[in-house]
Amino acid sequence: MTGEITFGPAPRLQALPYRSWVEVSRPQIAANFDAIRNVVGPDVEIMPVVKADAYRHGAVEVSRTLEERGARWLAVSNAEEGIALRDAGIRARIVVMADFLPFTREAMLSYNLTPVLHSLEDIPELDRLACVRERKVPFHLKIDSGMGRLGVRNQVAAIASTVLAGRYVELEGLMTHFASAANYQNKQTEEQTAVFNNVAAALNAAGVYPRLLHLSSTIPIAYGRRQAWRGMVRPGHAIYGYVSPARGHAPQRILEVKPALSWRATVLSVKDLPAGASVGYGAIFRATEPMRVAVLAAGYADGIPHRLSNRGSVIVNGKFAPILGAVSMDLTSIDVTRSPEVNVGDTVTLLGSEGALSIDAQEIAKLAGTISYSVLCGIHARVKRIYI
Ligand SMILES: *Cc1c(COP(=O)(O)O)cnc(C)c1O
Repeated sequence: MTGEITFGPAPRLQALPYRSWVEVSRPQIAANFDAIRNVVGPDVEIMPVVKADAYRHGAVEVSRTLEERGARWLAVSNAEEGIALRDAGIRARIVVMADFLPFTREAMLSYNLTPVLHSLEDIPELDRLACVRERKVPFHLKIDSGMGRLGVRNQVAAIASTVLAGRYVELEGLMTHFASAANYQNKQTEEQTAVFNNVAAALNAAGVYPRLLHLSSTIPIAYGRRQAWRGMVRPGHAIYGYVSPARGHAPQRILEVKPALSWRATVLSVKDLPAGASVGYGAIFRATEPMRVAVLAAGYADGIPHRLSNRGSVIVNGKFAPILGAVSMDLTSIDVTRSPEVNVGDTVTLLGSEGALSIDAQEIAKLAGTISYSVLCGIHARVKRIYI
C-alpha cells in the first residue's frame, strides 16, 4: 500500500490520429449561453463575443451553435473575423468592436457588419459611405468612460450634433467597457457606470436615443452588477465556461458555467532515463533517480506556455504527471514513472478533465504567470479542433 488515493480503473481516453487537438463541446457552449440567459432574463439582449476565433474554440462552429440556441447578435474584434462568419452563413447581427480602419470600411458595409465607432470623425465618414449605397447603416458608439483605450471623450453637445448631422447613419447602440470589473476593492466600475449614464442621459436630453445601451462583459454579469446590464450584455469568457475570480468584497456569484474545451496531446516516445540524466534544453531538469519519461507531440508552438517548463502537469491515465525540463517548440517531456503503462500513441490531457482529475485554463494561467484568456487564445491554429 502506498497510501495513495486511486479512482478505480484508469480511464482510457480515445486516441485520435492527431499530434494534438482540442475537443469543444457544443452542448456546453449552448448550456453556458442558457445559463447567461437565465441570469439576465428575457429582456436583456445577449451578444456573445466570438472574437479571436471564439477564444480559440473556433468562431464558425461556436457562432453556429449560439445562433441555433437563439443568439441574435455576435461580437467580433475586426472586419476580417466578421467576414469569415458571413462567408460561413452566419445571419445574426455582427458587431465589430475594434476596427473601422480605412481599408476595412467598404467591406464592413458589403458584409452587413455593424461597426463600433471610436471617434467622432468616423461618423460623417460612415455617413458618406452609406450615402453612396443609399442605405441606412446602423452603428454603435463607444464612450471612453475611464478605460482610457478606445472610445470618445468629447463633450455631449459635440457627440449629439455629429450624430444628428448624419443622414444615412443611425446610432443604434451606445457602449462602454470596464477596466477593473473584477476589482471590488476600488470604485472604478461605479465611476465608469456613472460617467456612461450621464452621457446617455445628456444625449437623450439632446434628442439622441440609442436603442441599446451596453457596458457589461462576463464579470458584471456573473457577479450580478445589474445596474450595468441595461439593454444588452457582451459575455465572452463565460460563453466558454470561465469567470475570473473577483478581488475584494464581491457579491455572491450568480452565474454557473463550465469549460467547453479540452486539450489533448499524443505520446510520441516513452523511455527510461538513468539517475543523473538531464532532460531537454538547458538541462534544467536532472533525474535524481531512474525515471520513465514520455515525450508529448506538442510544445509552445501549439500554445503550451513556455513558462510551464519544470512547473506544470498534465493528466495521464487518470494521474497527474509533472512537466520535466523546458517546454520546447514542438515537444514537451513529462514524468510517467508513476504511470509506467503509458505507450506511444496514448492520449494525455493538457487542459480539461480525465477521470476525477481536471486542469483548467485558470490553473495553467496561475502557474504560467498569465491570465486564462491568454492561455485559451494561445492554443495555436495548428491544433486540430474537434466538435462533440
Ligand atoms: C472581449 C470583450 C468583451 C468580452 O469580455 P469577457 O471578459 O471575455 O466576457 C466584452 N466587451 C468588449 C469591448 C471586449 O473587448
